[in-house]
Amino acid sequence: MNSIEQIDIAGKKVLMRVDFNVPVDSGGNITDETRIRAHIRSIGYCIEKGARVILISHMGRPKGERVEKLTLRPCAASLSRILGKEVPFVDDCIGEKAQAAVASMKAGEVILLENLRFHIGDEKNDPGFARELAKLCDVYIDDAFAVAHRKAASNSAITQFVKVCAAGFLLKDEIEYFNKAMKDPARPLVAIIGGAKVSDKIGVLENLVDTVNMLIIGGGMAFTFLKAVGNEIGKSLCEGEMLDKAKSIMEKAASKGVKVLLPVDCIVADKAEASAAANICPVANIPRESMGLDIGPETIKAFGDAVKEAKTIVWNGPLGMFELEAFSKGTFTIARDVAVSGALSIIGGGDTDSAVHKAGVGDKMSYISTGGGAFLELLEGKKMPAVEALEACGG
Ligand code: AMP
Repeated sequence: MNSIEQIDIAGKKVLMRVDFNVPVDSGGNITDETRIRAHIRSIGYCIEKGARVILISHMGRPKGERVEKLTLRPCAASLSRILGKEVPFVDDCIGEKAQAAVASMKAGEVILLENLRFHIGDEKNDPGFARELAKLCDVYIDDAFAVAHRKAASNSAITQFVKVCAAGFLLKDEIEYFNKAMKDPARPLVAIIGGAKVSDKIGVLENLVDTVNMLIIGGGMAFTFLKAVGNEIGKSLCEGEMLDKAKSIMEKAASKGVKVLLPVDCIVADKAEASAAANICPVANIPRESMGLDIGPETIKAFGDAVKEAKTIVWNGPLGMFELEAFSKGTFTIARDVAVSGALSIIGGGDTDSAVHKAGVGDKMSYISTGGGAFLELLEGKKMPAVEALEACGG
């Protein structure tokens, strides 16, 4: 896969797929610009090289209809402010308006086109729609890792119609960091998997036991595992239909010499509320009316010791209901342990990202992925269709 630095973009019309799917409030104001800022390196590089930068993105799920509240217009204003230069907005991403806007661009200018998904052709990976997009450019750059796991005309079919294609810095970094952690890691490689549901991450767990040296399981999903090995777990989260899967993962791990660390104690309460009285409880003695909402002190110590030994750490999913202070200690303490471990640390998933920031150590992690679903699919061992498309075009 070519990267943006390996191709000639000077003076070229560069069509860049970004992910500006930002949260917007009812007044049309962007409430978090992180996704826009994640592309500034690639956009800035193109400006510096004197390219004409045409940005395309989706927002929400308009399903081929023009839905005014899903317009990308606010992103153009936000980007203008961040770049300190005017970014004109064009209210269609294909057709005469888009072509005229591109034709009038000068070197080093940036424009943003309207939501790709106002046309159904994007989601359908429609070659006709991709051809229309391709008419706008000389070079195609994909920088949208967060959607790289889903085939769309703007990240797959388009590569058949543009001769020069490459990955932007964000997409390249995501793949490179992931490969460093999972393909040829410094060992021990420790995976920390938490969050609410086993069923969401079963493919991840199955794949990880083939690769990691140690699997740390926390969060709500740990209780299905604890039940599978014979504990009574009260009202804690449990997915009955996942008990056999949980057992088979433990068996597979044992047969491969992969150590699985489950909580030995937890913080229980009778309800998942800030006002609930929280108590420490060994996992063998969870009262029938209680639910486990965080890992306990013995577990924090055991998980922390494992993290200290690690040379590579991959983490997805909080270890407790960290949004409530009473149940945040496990996640925050382990986040700080990861931060000082000296290991290569790769963090993925919106909740985990938010948790490490709340713990005050977001900037101490080696890499925080921008893609929740895409990151999980990489952890499942799946290939990213958008990356395959870039590779296939020789770009
Ligand atoms: P996920 O999206 O699967 O990574 O799940 C993240 C959510 O899991 C967060 O909102 C946490 O509050 C929640 N969570 C973590 N641990 C627990 C737990 N022990 N019980 C209930 N929810 C939990």
